[in-house]
Amino acid sequence: MCQSTPPADLVLVMDATAGRHARRFLDEHWCDVHARDLRPQGDLVVTELVTNAVRHGAPPAVLALECQGRDGVSMRVSDAGPDAPELREAGPEALGGRGIALVDVLSAQWGVEAGPDGKTVWSRLVGQVPAG
Ligand SMILES: [Zn+2]
Repeated sequence: MCQSTPPADLVLVMDATAGRHARRFLDEHWCDVHARDLRPQGDLVVTELVTNAVRHGAPPAVLALECQGRDGVSMRVSDAGPDAPELREAGPEALGGRGIALVDVLSAQWGVEAGPDGKTVWSRLVGQVPAG
């Protein structure tokens, strides 16, 4: 748990500005106490998660950000669409983003949870990986 920065969430506008809004949201709610060094990865991951929801999901979509102290930072993007993102190589159709493959590389853990009202794609970033 983080004693410094409370969890926050943002209802996403489902258009091409969503990534920019998400990064601005991170500006306001990112935990600089525990996760300052993770911010560059955070920007990349949140952009991919949000872009994926805008392109392939359905409204409403919500971004949830939570610092978990030593356990890292979790970002979750939920939307009302049923289709999970596919892990695949970036291709010409990937346009500006490299998709979930980038999330896979940058995240300590990530996953997709299906629910009755859609799905959640989540990522957890961890700064200090224990040796061994
Ligand atoms: Zn924190």
